Amino acid sequence: MNDVYLLTGGNIGDRLLNLQLAIEQIEKHIGTVLKKSVVYETAAWGVTNQSSFLNQVLLVSTNLPAQKLLQTLLDIEQQLGRKRIEKMGPRTVDIDILFYNNEIISSPRLTVPHPQIANRRFVLTPLNEIASGFVHPVLQKTITELLEACPDPLEVKKHISVNKPI
Ligand code: AMP
Repeated sequence: MNDVYLLTGGNIGDRLLNLQLAIEQIEKHIGTVLKKSVVYETAAWGVTNQSSFLNQVLLVSTNLPAQKLLQTLLDIEQQLGRKRIEKMGPRTVDIDILFYNNEIISSPRLTVPHPQIANRRFVLTPLNEIASGFVHPVLQKTITELLEACPDPLEVKKHISVNKPI
């Protein structure tokens, strides 16, 4: 079995529902979700007429090899997007592979660890919640150390879910 950290995120449609649907698809096609962070919210960079992003990090146990994992995630993204294509456009959920065990993978289609981890507070904040002591296999620093050194100025807040009136 392989331990993989995934980042789910989106800013289109019912954002919270889309993250929940992504978890359901991951459980069905990829493996067991062992841990999940709470959902965090980050403003979209620069563009003011765009909804803020919701993000969540998941630790998943899977027997899929890395390339097959990537293909399955792309299929899930496509499937979740397609469902709402008429109303709000094709991209509702993005899923990135942050870590695949301690492996370093560099192929034309896949780079692991994900190259932007250290630069993005919206990745490091949820990751720090469930994997604070995990050592980045390339940078050789823990997630907490990377978060403390992160230059990203965007504020990342816990998302408060407001129940919609019936
Ligand atoms: P994006 O939708 O902008 O996240 O880009 C998705 C593309 O990035 C995929 O088609 C992958 O081939 C490529 N990619 C490279 N490394 C990764 C990674 N660690 N996780 C997810 N996608 C990756």
